[in-house]
Parts: sequence; structure tokens; C-alpha cells
Amino acid sequence: MFAAMTFAVNDPEAGFCRDCLRPQADAAARRCAACGSPRLLRHAELHRLSIAHIDCDAFYAAVEKRDRPELRDRPLIIGGGKRGVVSTACYIARIKGVRSAMPMFKALEACPEAVVIKPDMEKYVLVGREVRRMMQALTPLVEPISIDEAFLDLSGTQKLHGMAPAIVLARFARQVEREVGITVSVGLSYCKFLAKVASDFNKPRGFAVIGEAEALDFLAEQPVTLIWGVGKAFAATLARDGITQIAQLQTMERGTLMKRYGTMGDRLYHLARGQDTRRVHAEHGAKSVSAETTFDIDLAAPGDLVPVLRALSETVSARLKKAGIAGHTVTLKLKTHDFKIRTRNRRLSDPTRLADRIFSTGLGLLEKETDGTRYRLIGIGVADLAPDDRADPSDLVDTAARKRALAEGAVDVLREKFGKKAVETGYTFGKGNRGRPQREG
Ligand SMILES: [Mg+2]
Repeated sequence: MFAAMTFAVNDPEAGFCRDCLRPQADAAARRCAACGSPRLLRHAELHRLSIAHIDCDAFYAAVEKRDRPELRDRPLIIGGGKRGVVSTACYIARIKGVRSAMPMFKALEACPEAVVIKPDMEKYVLVGREVRRMMQALTPLVEPISIDEAFLDLSGTQKLHGMAPAIVLARFARQVEREVGITVSVGLSYCKFLAKVASDFNKPRGFAVIGEAEALDFLAEQPVTLIWGVGKAFAATLARDGITQIAQLQTMERGTLMKRYGTMGDRLYHLARGQDTRRVHAEHGAKSVSAETTFDIDLAAPGDLVPVLRALSETVSARLKKAGIAGHTVTLKLKTHDFKIRTRNRRLSDPTRLADRIFSTGLGLLEKETDGTRYRLIGIGVADLAPDDRADPSDLVDTAARKRALAEGAVDVLREKFGKKAVETGYTFGKGNRGRPQREG
């Protein structure tokens, strides 16, 4: 019966129902004419917008509640024991003041009755992959941002689905609830920046739309911290210059902003005006994933090169994991002091996405090249990319390596919450600028 409906000519002002997906005839009705649900979605640009950001709600907590229904109505914290920090808090715990990255003792002060569960990364990765596959059934243009969120470009999919992207997305959200047992929030707009902002707008189970016509007015009322890349430190810099609201940026010249803040000034100028031309990239289109760094001074000693190799391996691994891919071949790249490039490859028995395997393979290749030659650049990467469900099979990786793989999962979670510097391994710890990647390829 849905097939008989003409979604394409449906009046966006009347909208549709997010629960039964039926178009609505009355633009003023508060409940769906067919199923009575109050979750009606209306927007003048509803059937024109096609860039979406989808984010699972309180992901780790939602997966655990799904698996333990007795916890459904209780405050739940996913985190690392009493001395650890909060990875994810469910919405009941959030009402009590619990936040991600909060030290566990503080979280339990705010919400002593909370149930605490240690993160089960293996399980979350599988659920995240399941959700991603469902996204990929909507459009090939899915760009994962992390385990539980992605951008989707649904432009030109109307014919395929027989309905506008907005309805496809609502159907997707419903499908995830029914088939995976967790909820998502959807942001729909004409660009990535505002799609991401929208998905955050009425979480959980949200669906927010930001159209082109309203973008400037909407942004004018927001703080500068809404802009991508404006973190605490940069917000403080802007505040010192008297800028706290996006409205202020909207009145400033591009040249002035660039002179003051460099490339970030350019970003401020455009994003403040809702101008974001970045496209949604399906990451599996990449041929290789690599990272490299150029040194301030040429280096020859293994003791100088190895920590850099380790840090770069972690960068590559993080990017692979984010994209849900793995690589079969590890490539080491060196540039000598006289600008000669050396590349060395090794093909693995199976694809990897683990920093540990990338690093140890790269180390084997590097050992043969540390013959006193001075290098100005080192890089590591993986090629022959494959989906990560074939990566690092547990029957081939020994138990110790498996433990490291799980630990890496935990480290990734912390990095996601606190930034890269939060968790340093023995190899990279305490190294200054010289040892950290400055440029990634
Ligand atoms: Mg999320």
C-alpha cells in the first residue's frame, strides 16, 4: 500500500509521520491522521535535502540495555571501573548529571544508584558494523566518522527508493530500532556541517532538519563553539578577541579572519555563513591509508625513528578503524637527507587494522634501512584495502596479540573522548614535537 502513495508530490509543509511513514494532508495537525503518532516531521525543504548525519544514541549504553532488558529503566554507565572514566552514560544517568569522560568517582557521586558496566568493544564494533551495512543499503556514499556515526549523501537516490531522502532516513531509523534494538538520531540538511549540528539537536530518537533558507538566522543565534574545529582553546582565543557568537563572525570580512586565524579563519568565515562544500566520501574508495612526518632535523638512529614509526602506526590504525577497513600490505616510506625516496613493502597473511601489527611489520622493514643513512621523512601505510570483517582473524592471531587488540579498542575509546594525547604508549610517551607526526598523507 505504501507503493501506491505518491511521496514525491507530497506537500512538505504537511510532512509525514516518522512512525508509520505516511504523508500527511493537514499541515496543522498535531498527530498522524493514520496512526495517531505525534512524531510528525514538517519542513519547507523536507523533500529537497539529501545530506544526512546519523548518530546512534548513547551507543554503548543502548547496546547493553538491549542485551539486558532488566536495566532498561535504570541509570547505566559504561566505563572502566572505579578509577576509570565514563565512556557512555544512558539518558537516565545524564539527567542526573553524568557526562562522557567524567571520572567514574564523580559520576557515582552524581548518580550513586547507577549500574556500571565495563565496555565490551568487540560487541560494539559488531553492532556498529551492522548499522553501517544498513546505511550502505541506502546509498554507497556513507562516510563513517566513528563506530556509531556517519555522513550519508542521498542525492539522486529518490528513484531507487521511490521516496525522498527524508522518508528513507525515517524508515532507516525505524528499521534500526526494530532490527538492531537501539535508537539513532538523524540530522538532515544541505551540507555536512549543518547535518551534523542537526543530528545533535533533539537527541535521542531525534530527526532535525536545517534548510538553506534558515541557515543564516539559525547560525546567528549559536555560539562559536558550534563550529567544527572550535574547541576549548580556540574558543578562548576568540573570546579574548571579543568573539563568542556566530552572529559576530557573520559580519566580519574573510580577509580579516584569515589574517587573524589563518586557515581556521577561512573556515570560520564560511561555516558561520552555512557554506560548507565538503563532500561525503565513501572511505572504502581509498587505495591506501598512510601517515608520514617530516623531521626538523635529519635522523639516523633507530632510537629516534622507532617512536615516530609507532606514533604513525597508531594514526594509520585509528583511521582504518574509523573507516571500517583493513590493509593487506604494509608499506614503509623513507626520504633520505638528499631527497631520495625508499619504499619497502610486506604483504601479510591477512589484512590488518591493528597499530601493533602495522608497527611490528614496519619495524622489520625499518631495521634493514637503519644503516647510518640520515632521513628527513618517515611514513607508514597499508594498501590492498579490504573490509575489516576479514581483518586480524582470531584463530591466526595469538592470544597475546588478541589481548592487545582488545586493549587497542579500549585505548581508541579513550582517545576519542580525550584526544590523541590522552593515551600514549611506551614508545611515544614523552616525545616532543620532533617525534610526533606533523603531516599526514
Ligand atoms: Mg553516538
